[in-house]
Amino acid sequence: MHEPLIKIDDKHVPLYRIVWVSDLPHFCGEDDCLREGYYEVRLDCDDSLWTNLPDRDRVIETLNQWCGDPRDEGEF
Ligand SMILES: [Zn+2]
Repeated sequence: MHEPLIKIDDKHVPLYRIVWVSDLPHFCGEDDCLREGYYEVRLDCDDSLWTNLPDRDRVIETLNQWCGDPRDEGEF
């Protein structure tokens, strides 16, 4: 069974706490925005993590494996 933990930023997050993962990078137009170009990983409890594109893709890939994406069947 796949380990249901993933490291995002410097935090180990249980996969079941992830509500959704952003498809597009953050943009809000604020001059001092620190999230610009980062991808949001929404967690339950009104919490969010912010990550770069390679990490965002890694999160989705891990979620797919954990959720048992049928496309991955037979690869393990
Ligand atoms: Zn912003």
